[in-house]
Amino acid sequence: AKAIGIKELVKSINFACVKHTDQRRKDVNKTPYINHPIGVMNILCEEGGVTDIPTLMGAVLHDTVEDTDTSPDEILQEFGEEVASIVKEVTDDKSLPKAERKRLQVVNAPHKSKKAKLIKLADKLYNLRDLSRETPEGWTEERVKEYRIWASKVCTGLVGSNPMLENNLKEELSANGVTF
Ligand code: NDP
Ligand code: ZN
Repeated sequence: AKAIGIKELVKSINFACVKHTDQRRKDVNKTPYINHPIGVMNILCEEGGVTDIPTLMGAVLHDTVEDTDTSPDEILQEFGEEVASIVKEVTDDKSLPKAERKRLQVVNAPHKSKKAKLIKLADKLYNLRDLSRETPEGWTEERVKEYRIWASKVCTGLVGSNPMLENNLKEELSANGVTF
């Protein structure tokens, strides 16, 4: 197989930028969506000490299949089997009802690969911080609280993959009265 390096990482960042171009986050300022996948990749590097390139590529691509017109086959063609498999592992089945998808995240978390677990930890950490920074329009405090409790359950199934990320998650949650 062709070696995967910086060139492929840069290509994946650009791919995610193009795919998420028209999307915005749910915060009041409607931040460009791409801030999130790049931020998740940055949390892995900066806070988790993760430098494995397929993992960082999986991070920046983690919401492309779930939230854009990107197909799993497109990821396979562009980035190869390892990255495609990681992205598949962090993608919810959109044909299922929302509540079922949320339940499955909790159930399936412990069975993910190490690389997928790292991405999921960083994803939850980013989203929890985003919620603490600013409540999305239309969200009640109750809904924010429910989200924190659900995220904490998902992350319980990811424990053992990165102590630093797990510690930062614990801090974010405990600052908001949720045990982890
Ligand atoms: P959503 O799943 O709708 O939203 C959370 C997700 O939005 C995050 O996981 C993140 O996903 C993305 N996101 C985008 N912008 C932000 C941001 N600024 N901060 C944080 N996350 C952001 O929310 P819920 O988890 O509440 O799930 C919806 C469920 O809740 C449904 O089942 C719905 O029926 C129910 N619901 C509950 C209400 C309540 O008051 N409890 C009210 C309305 C609905 P990503 O990483 O993919 O970007
Ligand atoms: Zn995400």
